[in-house]
Amino acid sequence: MTTLSEFNVRTGGATDWINITNQVQKIVDASGVSEGICAVFIPHTTAAVTINENADPDVPRDVNLALNCISPDRREFQHSEGNSAAHTKTSLVGPSITLIVTGGKLLLGTWQGIWFNEYDGPRTRKVCVRVLGE
Ligand code: ZN
Repeated sequence: MTTLSEFNVRTGGATDWINITNQVQKIVDASGVSEGICAVFIPHTTAAVTINENADPDVPRDVNLALNCISPDRREFQHSEGNSAAHTKTSLVGPSITLIVTGGKLLLGTWQGIWFNEYDGPRTRKVCVRVLGE
């Protein structure tokens, strides 16, 4: 038996990275799954999810700096909401990740954490999680 779990994230700025590793692990704990997989999906078009370093806060800041260089605001954008740079960064980073669950724990490297990425905040966002396995 698997269930779909959801939780909300309140983002604090136009661009914001929030570490959601503990919330996702709590859903794995509640699922009772010991060996399986965990899918994390973000149902938004200007927010994404990624795995990256969870130790040095300069890493999210530097990655955002790089993403802003790759996708700056451009005068040529036509989307009336004016947030095409955020849509572009969302497509670059992606809406979902799949993790391995083993021994009841998310398999992550020592320095890895799961990061919710806001690109058009502040907003209240949703994170969807499904754990499959036994
Ligand atoms: Zn838009």
